[in-house]
Amino acid sequence: MTQARNTHASPAPLPAAEADLDRRSIRARTEPMTITALGDAIYEIGTEHGTTYLVDLASNRCSCPDHTYRDVRCKHLRRVAIEITEGRVPPPGKLAVECDVCGEELFVDERTVQEESHYCETHTLEPGAFVRDRETGDRLLVVHVSDRRADRVRIGESAYSVATYPNNRSYDPTDSVVGAVYPQSVEMTGRGPEPDELRVYSFPYSRLERIA
Ligand SMILES: [Zn+2]
Ligand SMILES: [Zn+2]
Repeated sequence: MTQARNTHASPAPLPAAEADLDRRSIRARTEPMTITALGDAIYEIGTEHGTTYLVDLASNRCSCPDHTYRDVRCKHLRRVAIEITEGRVPPPGKLAVECDVCGEELFVDERTVQEESHYCETHTLEPGAFVRDRETGDRLLVVHVSDRRADRVRIGESAYSVATYPNNRSYDPTDSVVGAVYPQSVEMTGRGPEPDELRVYSFPYSRLERIA
């Protein structure tokens, strides 16, 4: 008979601690916070009241009073976890940077964040990619992506660098130099494909736009 009585009993109120936890997870989701990954698994949290806390995911600690004094899993720790899971904040080991061409936010390995240029998937050029020359509309095939800057690569024996060459001056002089060929310069002959001129031309990275 004990069982029957229990079935009809009104639901027990949530224990205080659990109700507290519930409220915390709602606040963790809904309160306005700005989260910035600083590297080394440290995240800076800006609250709507202008307070700044640091969350360290390596040790699962937060500098807020809720965590420091009450030793609970505070809303900041929760929020960082949520934002990472949902892809809005970089996970530990990565940092947010902007694509050099379109400004889209992307996450890169924190060890490579000092590199001069970062590109989103659409704007990543690699050998074999077809591209459009933004100046002329010509279609080219990328054969080489160098790690040298446009302002440090000279064009032949001229006084120009890739950055100062006419038509290249409106592009970032720190762009990487990309080598590309005109695929229409390859001619099909009885002996197979024969390039009549397979010269590799140098371009500042952002002058070339990837095409499908
Ligand atoms: Zn906290
Ligand atoms: Zn981009």
